[in-house]
Amino acid sequence: MPTAKGFAAPAPNIALEPFTFSRREPGANEVLIDIKFCGVCHSDIHQVRDEWGKGTYPMVPGHEIVGEIIKVGSEVTNFKVGDLAGVGCFVDSCRKCPSCQKGLEQYCEVGMVGTYNSKDKQGNPTYGGYSNLITVDEKYTLKVSPKLDLAGVAPLLCAGITTWSPLREWKVSKGHKLAVVGLGGLGHMAVKLAVSLGAEVTVLSTSPSKEADAKALGAHHFALTKNEEHFKALKNSFDFIIDTVSAQHDIASYLNLLRVDGTMILLGIPPEASLIHNSPLVMKRRRLAGSLIGGIKETQEMLDYCAEHGIVSDIELIPISYINEAYERVLKSDVRYRFVIDMAL
Ligand code: NAP
Ligand code: ZN
Ligand code: ZN
Repeated sequence: MPTAKGFAAPAPNIALEPFTFSRREPGANEVLIDIKFCGVCHSDIHQVRDEWGKGTYPMVPGHEIVGEIIKVGSEVTNFKVGDLAGVGCFVDSCRKCPSCQKGLEQYCEVGMVGTYNSKDKQGNPTYGGYSNLITVDEKYTLKVSPKLDLAGVAPLLCAGITTWSPLREWKVSKGHKLAVVGLGGLGHMAVKLAVSLGAEVTVLSTSPSKEADAKALGAHHFALTKNEEHFKALKNSFDFIIDTVSAQHDIASYLNLLRVDGTMILLGIPPEASLIHNSPLVMKRRRLAGSLIGGIKETQEMLDYCAEHGIVSDIELIPISYINEAYERVLKSDVRYRFVIDMAL
């Protein structure tokens, strides 16, 4: 069995530390990937700190994985040794339920098998991409174009697909005014993708220092949410709001920025529940929705779209030994705009 080296959280609220473990030999339909890069998602922090409950330890986080295939099982047809490949937030699902049948594996009714902090069908814990090797079924493995910077592709496997999926579901395009709340890993991908699809994009941020970046990412407007004047001036103006905030905040005040029939899509999963007054929804027939990552087919479509349009994440490359400092900086909204672990450093 291949021996993998990575970093794991031994328990909630304890710093991540080096961890050595075994990966299974690839089965007939599986590939073994030499992980080159792995993005650092805020969901990693929520789970490492057990903010969503049910964390299992030791936990090797990481679900924005890209690398090179180094071994294939006897029945693998879509990949060969030497191909680039990606793995996102899940590595299996029941494959039979209506959601799986529709290519919406993320909404599998039995429950998807998470890339980490989950159990595979044999009941073994899954370990993620803060490591140098992973064995995955080819059906849950994505093709990655050699045209793009590989490190910048890694965050597409979560931040990219999580923002792409609602943009496609709600058919966001030219003529739509869309706001992105929170300019972090998800937020900066939402800006790039929505701009590329033709929407007029406004960034709503708590960080004055991000204004120039927002414009450089392609956003047309920027508003500081702490500035009451700015905020009030935006009332009733957006067709869509994509909310990527990782901490508790006043969702109802943002709902008032939607025009009649406008839709707010929640992507962030703060640990605390939100209290929402009904009236901002009722008074203007507004809609409040949520969206979880995306299915395998849609993830491949997003990766292909990004390859065609030259879209990657803006990243800061780090060695895995920097992971605990990186978490602290993410928590201070001090990341521009995704940390990516370079396994070779
Ligand atoms: P991130 O890089 O930390 O970005 C979050 C941004 O939210 C920050 O950069 C900051 O932007 C803003 N923010 C933070 N604290 C805030 C507060 N108290 N009030 C208002 N704004 C605040 O995180 P991420 O990786 O993009 O993930 C964001 C959230 O999405 C997390 O909860 C994560 O678990 C969740 N997530 C969901 C899915 C899904 O499938 N739905 C997938 C991946 C991640 P400004 O500095 O611009 O204000
Ligand atoms: Zn993620
Ligand atoms: Zn299913």
